[in-house]
Amino acid sequence: MKILVINAGSSSLKFQLIDMANESVLAKGLAERIGLDDPILTYAPLGKDKIKSNPLMKNHEDAVRLVLASLTDKESGVIADMSEIKAVGHRVVHGGESFSGSVMIGDAVMQTLLECAELAPLHNPANIMGIEACRAVMPNTPMAGVFDTAFHQTMPANAYIYALPYELYKKHQVRRYGFHGTSHFYVSQRVAEFIGKPIEELKIVTCHLGNGSSIAAVKYGKSVDTSMGFTPLEGVPMGTRSGDIDPAIIKYLCEKLNMSVQEVDSYLNKKSGVMGISGVSSDFRDIEAAAEADNEQAKLAQDVFSYRVKKYIGAYAAAMDGVDAIVFTAGVGENDWLIREKVLDGLSYLGVELDKELNASVRGKEVEITKSGCKTRAFIIPTNEELVIARDTLKLVEG
Ligand code: ADP
Repeated sequence: MKILVINAGSSSLKFQLIDMANESVLAKGLAERIGLDDPILTYAPLGKDKIKSNPLMKNHEDAVRLVLASLTDKESGVIADMSEIKAVGHRVVHGGESFSGSVMIGDAVMQTLLECAELAPLHNPANIMGIEACRAVMPNTPMAGVFDTAFHQTMPANAYIYALPYELYKKHQVRRYGFHGTSHFYVSQRVAEFIGKPIEELKIVTCHLGNGSSIAAVKYGKSVDTSMGFTPLEGVPMGTRSGDIDPAIIKYLCEKLNMSVQEVDSYLNKKSGVMGISGVSSDFRDIEAAAEADNEQAKLAQDVFSYRVKKYIGAYAAAMDGVDAIVFTAGVGENDWLIREKVLDGLSYLGVELDKELNASVRGKEVEITKSGCKTRAFIIPTNEELVIARDTLKLVEG
């Protein structure tokens, strides 16, 4: 059975076609600049060369048609006909409190998704465009929605309630939701398999460090706390997002720099984080290069980022009354040995003993980076959000 996984952004659409018989990726790719000048379609079929083209893509429907045309192409295609795609799994960022698991998408679910869009105006409308485009082009193919927030719906109220008037939660659903749930779920399950212990016996801190970053406390297989909140702006600093700040800074910025609320929002989301501190880039590779060339602000960005991740690990050890495993995943977590070293430096009170040489020499594969026999172990576990979406979709379609 083949499942098409779709992750739609406002002007982009990522896809993977996965053969669930052996969970192999048959083809993947990305449609970019949808609705803009010079759109780009990148299509990578398994074992063949990547194909880049610039077909006209006025909207997401055009993009879906072109993706299907690529997948069924006589020469570079990987399936003979669209009917081989048994279902489509969509990534949806925000499921609010309505969705604590994945769902089949019908008219009623579409309606609830539209209501949730208010909670995530930057992400959900784009996800919905992707779903609507697929429903229009493939009206007879079942569709499922898999939510970034769902895994965190197990958090207890003391972790998700903000210290604001309670009616704000009751009337307007202002609370911590958390994001990157599919990733935190996947890597916590994988690390339990790697260790060879049931997840029901493990306390795990998962560090998803990418362009957007979040940390989660996963106790006995369930998320009990996570650093992102009502929106993906809260928590550790990110590429361009500030993470936690004193909320009084917002008023100060409005008054002192004459900023509108929208301008402050854009400042905190797009101009802050390691980009804001370093003044170099949001990409940790650029920051590392600048730090090596003695750029003090770049070094400071690395230090602030790793210190804040470390603080969350300490907080979550407290939240779970201990920690057995710390997992690093996503672009930075899987690849940046220096950030991992800085994060784990000074966690000896938890019983972390980093194998520095090994840590500096590995990237992008499942591996333990602590010394054997230490109390709290650390691992790199590459994430695979698409596989979680495909597995959930398959489960729903089968029954
Ligand atoms: P997202 O899915 O949130 O867009 P990713 O998980 O793909 O992000 O992470 C992208 C980020 O990972 C890049 O912006 C870069 O900072 C970082 N990254 C990727 N490769 C490396 C590397 N080799 N060394 C350090 N950082 C890296």
